[in-house]
Amino acid sequence: MRAIHRQGVRVLDLLYPPRCASCRQPGSWLCLSCRAAIKPVPEPTCAVCGQPSFHSPCSSCREAPPAFDGLYAAALFEGPVREAVHRLKYGNLTAAAPALAELLSAAYQHRGWDGDCIIPVPLHPTRQRQRGYNQSAELAKALSSAQRLPLYLTALQRTRAGRDQIGLTLEARRTNVYSAFAVRHRECVTGRRCLVIDDVATTGSTANECARTLKATGATKVYALVLARQQMEEYR
Ligand SMILES: [Zn+2]
Ligand SMILES: [Zn+2]
Repeated sequence: MRAIHRQGVRVLDLLYPPRCASCRQPGSWLCLSCRAAIKPVPEPTCAVCGQPSFHSPCSSCREAPPAFDGLYAAALFEGPVREAVHRLKYGNLTAAAPALAELLSAAYQHRGWDGDCIIPVPLHPTRQRQRGYNQSAELAKALSSAQRLPLYLTALQRTRAGRDQIGLTLEARRTNVYSAFAVRHRECVTGRRCLVIDDVATTGSTANECARTLKATGATKVYALVLARQQMEEYR
């Protein structure tokens, strides 16, 4: 029954004209005033973790270098982006993914990364069945067509469900995602520069664990591009 309902919502998305994923104003999936209100991560940033820093790499990245070569967010997780991500993630608003992926495209170009392929952060199969889709895969699909980079939707697999990272401390986040991923298709990863896509990053634990897994399978570089960066009080 839930699946039928979800399908119904998608059909409605197609039948009705686009509405802003944030303020719901009709006309586009992200209206001009919401676009104008999007806040980027303040520059300068650390070239590795993407956090605001006058030094690059920042002191955290020097002390404990992450497995990824770069993590960067298209925007801060607030205002219109927060609303839009929430609707994309929990409100079946996959139709807005291409509009949101434009922000990812701009961030990718701004960073000047040289990815060979795009891989979304996977959901555990149980979670994906419940939700009916993976919001990161929807973003990755749209980015793949915009940047003309091959998309490997199933290259990475989530083998442990873990819990939602929301509300967890830095240490708990690391433990929650540790060994949570596995490479399913080595041929997609070995010798490649992988661009991993996620909707939100806070501490970067998920991106780090994906990168660790991909590099253990021979990925030459791993960049993590996320739509929004959520600041965490316990972090820093
Ligand atoms: Zn709007
Ligand atoms: Zn850093």
